[in-house]
Amino acid sequence: MCIFCKIIDHQIDAAWVHQTEDVVVFADACPSAPGHVLVIPKRHVEKVTDLSKEEAMKLYDVVFDVQKAMVDVWQVPGQNLQINSGAIAGQEVFHAHIHVIPRKSPRSGQSPVFVALETRMKAVEALRAYFNTCPIQS
Ligand code: 5GP
Ligand code: ZN
Repeated sequence: MCIFCKIIDHQIDAAWVHQTEDVVVFADACPSAPGHVLVIPKRHVEKVTDLSKEEAMKLYDVVFDVQKAMVDVWQVPGQNLQINSGAIAGQEVFHAHIHVIPRKSPRSGQSPVFVALETRMKAVEALRAYFNTCPIQS
C-alpha cells in the first residue's frame, strides 16, 4: 500500500483538513509554506492523468473549495497550485495529488523541511474548523 493510501486508511497520522466521498485533504509533511496542503483522490492512481475526467473534476472541485477557504480563513493574497505528474516532472509520491500552497509572503527559496505533525495540525487548525463548521455545498 502506498504512503497516501496508508494515510487514507488511518495507518499513518496526518493533519487532516477536509474530506468528501472521493477526496481527502491533509497538510504536506514538508510544507513549502505554512498551511501547504495536498488534495488527493481516495482511489489509488499513480498520476492525475490516470483519473477519469469525472474523477479529475471532483478533485479540482475540492481544490477550488480549499482555495476559497484559505482566502476566507487566512485572507491569503495569493496561492500556488502545483501538480507534479510523473518522475520526470519531480513527482515523488506516486499517488495522484494536487498541492495547494498559500502565499502570505514571497517564496523563501529555501528547500522545504519536515515539520512535526503537531505543528502541521496547528498550521491547518482554522482551515479544518472551517470545513467542519461550514462545509461548502458543491
Ligand atoms: P510530489 O513531489 O510527489 O508532488 O510531492 C509529494 C509531497 O508529499 C511532498 O511535498 C512531501 O512533502 C509530501 N509527503 C511525502 N510523504 C508524506 C507523508 O507521509 N505525509 C504527508 N503529510 N506528506 C508527505
Ligand atoms: Zn495510494
